[in-house]
Amino acid sequence: MTNKTMSGPVHLPDPTRPPAPTPGCDVCEALDRQRAQAEKAKNHRRATTCEMEIRRHPRHEGQQ
Ligand SMILES: [Zn+2]
Repeated sequence: MTNKTMSGPVHLPDPTRPPAPTPGCDVCEALDRQRAQAEKAKNHRRATTCEMEIRRHPRHEGQQ
């Protein structure tokens, strides 16, 4: 797995992150943004919830 960091360094100990938001998916991108904000606010629980939502997001038909 490649781990490209485009939006700056993040320092969370969670080894299961980060989930990859599907490009072009508004939901995934919104969740990814929320996750980033939650991390900034040190709201780890919320960030984790956003990650789960991204992972569990169903197929992205018509988004690509
Ligand atoms: Zn999505």
